[in-house]
Amino acid sequence: MSATALRHDWTLAEVRALFQQPFNDLLFQAQSVHRQHFDPNRVQVSTLLSIKTGACPEDCKYCPQSGHYNTGLEKEKLMEVQKVLEAAAEAKAIGSTRFCMGAAWKHPSAKDMPYVLQMVQGVKALGLETCMTLGRLDQEQTRALADAGLDYYNHNLDTSPEFYGNIITTRTYGERLQTLAYVREAGMKICSGGILGMGESVDDRAGLLIQLANLPEHPESVPINMLVKVQGTPLAEEKDVDPFDFIRTLAVARILMPKSHVRLSAGREQMNEQMQSLAFLAGANSIFYGEKLLTTGNPQADKDMQLFARLGIQPEAREEHADEVHQAAIEQALVEQRNSELFYDAATA
Ligand code: SF4
Repeated sequence: MSATALRHDWTLAEVRALFQQPFNDLLFQAQSVHRQHFDPNRVQVSTLLSIKTGACPEDCKYCPQSGHYNTGLEKEKLMEVQKVLEAAAEAKAIGSTRFCMGAAWKHPSAKDMPYVLQMVQGVKALGLETCMTLGRLDQEQTRALADAGLDYYNHNLDTSPEFYGNIITTRTYGERLQTLAYVREAGMKICSGGILGMGESVDDRAGLLIQLANLPEHPESVPINMLVKVQGTPLAEEKDVDPFDFIRTLAVARILMPKSHVRLSAGREQMNEQMQSLAFLAGANSIFYGEKLLTTGNPQADKDMQLFARLGIQPEAREEHADEVHQAAIEQALVEQRNSELFYDAATA
């Protein structure tokens, strides 16, 4: 079987063997696979906006938004639809093709859903791809989001099933897989990845990638995050990941999921330009762009463009050039929003 065939039956022994290769051999293999499916000098650019920040009931040990830890993070209620659309328009103006909206929830409530759906419709009408991360979804919610035009749903597996219980106790691995199954069933694309630097072993990194690659279909988008250590979270004092081990994980992700966009995600601000360029060589071909990545810093957009220019990289165009900008649809979404119960009132949350 060729190294680039899409497989869903990876074993731990095989993936361990990939990780154990000499660094140059692994990078060569990953870059060879990458070139069979992608233009190596194109990187997809997304913008991420936190639409509801903090006070999350989950206990993810890495997350400053968890209500279980005191990180001094300023909590924010669900943003007004109009403000979200304004941010999306700005993201489009600086070259983003996908707009990701994240809410710190266990799951969206029935009361929140109409606003969330309006956001999807409005952002879609701007001609951007839409992505949301809202926590666990039930079948009805996934269908409603798909009907509103949501392209991607982000729900990370975070780590291997074996290590997972050390990081999160309020939501099971099985629940995460169930949400991903509902997202597929509703016909949306999946964005799912994990975080490195939480004290996991190399086998846990392999275990995470095996879970993702052995799904019935590979996630279209695979964010690989480097832990951003935030004071007040239980992982604030974790040891740094060796930068080469981080690059190795990107390379293995590229080999296991040859057609997926592998995203260099949180933690990019801590990486120097040399490390970022190695990440692109390993097959990473997507980044978040803009000033904030949910609640942690992200390199300035112009700095990213300068690096792209120095490396001869171009931002990838939208996958589907479907919609022109439907100004009427945006206006309609805003009118509907103004005429309805207007904005979410945190006091009644
Ligand atoms: S990672 Fe998501 S689910 Fe977990 S605490 Fe943070 S916002 Fe909540």
